[in-house]
Amino acid sequence: PDGGNTFGPEDDPHRYTIKEELGTGATATVCRCTKSDGTQYAVKSINLSKLRLQPNFQKVADKLHREVSILFTLRHPRIVSLYDVVEGRDHLHLVMELVEGGELFDHIVQMGSFTEPVARYVFIQIAEGLKYIHSQDIVYRDLKPENILVDRNHSKRGLLEIKLSDFGHSKLINDGYSTALTRVGTPQYWAPEVSDPLKAAQGYNQRVDLWSLGVVLYVMLVGAYPFDGVREPMEKQIRQAIVTFPPDRQPSQHAQDLIRGLIKVRPQDRLTLDACLGHAWISMMGGSLSKIA
Ligand code: ADP
Ligand code: MG
Repeated sequence: PDGGNTFGPEDDPHRYTIKEELGTGATATVCRCTKSDGTQYAVKSINLSKLRLQPNFQKVADKLHREVSILFTLRHPRIVSLYDVVEGRDHLHLVMELVEGGELFDHIVQMGSFTEPVARYVFIQIAEGLKYIHSQDIVYRDLKPENILVDRNHSKRGLLEIKLSDFGHSKLINDGYSTALTRVGTPQYWAPEVSDPLKAAQGYNQRVDLWSLGVVLYVMLVGAYPFDGVREPMEKQIRQAIVTFPPDRQPSQHAQDLIRGLIKVRPQDRLTLDACLGHAWISMMGGSLSKIA
């Protein structure tokens, strides 16, 4: 049964009702949904009938399979958890933890840019989530504020609690270098080894996420992209990795140093996540989250 706006077994406490839309991405629309017992979730519903008619069906299906199996293995407070997968007649429904508070992207747009304490609090959480993802031999590949959700119900005193979501581009890498080969993700957040198709074809690893983390920190503090514009000049800027800050929006020296430590051309030169978490910009406030506010 897959009729209307409900899904799951008929006459069953596990039946879900789809409610209003929460957001859309490149591949799917995500809606709020409630289970018969009243608990609330977010559901990402993929239209399989439509998918089957696509010329690249097999590729998209493989990607979907990867997203589901990766989400099922990841269990961490900084990562959106997957509760259930229900296959209906027309749709595959991924039932996830509901995170109410919108995308980090919209919070940045609304504020223009973040103060350093607010950005620091978010940065630490992203770094901790990434550290866990990498420890599971997974490369995230799509780190950007659109995929970072704000958990409004747990955010206090202007400090945002966040969760990483959308593992549609993530990949399990067995042993370090050479299994991730394709250019996926979002151009503004691409590391040079992803941006350059010839380099990407030689393989890249988890360190692409470190570059994107540097770009995310830049975006939070400056409210603009470090590398932007039309494709070709932007890719040239990325290859050179020259980071400049607008004169009227200069982050502190420690913040600039951390950004530049992540946005390095050679993957092996980028700061590790442990080095990020021990960086002076993090510890300058005493290193304890309770002292940040
Ligand atoms: P896509 O693969 O199409 O990019 P996403 O998984 O990124 O899809 O989801 C699209 C949008 O839906 C997100 O950017 C966000 O706004 C919203 N969303 C996704 N997951 C959740 C969730 N667990 N709770 C609340 N909103 C969500
Ligand atoms: Mg997305």
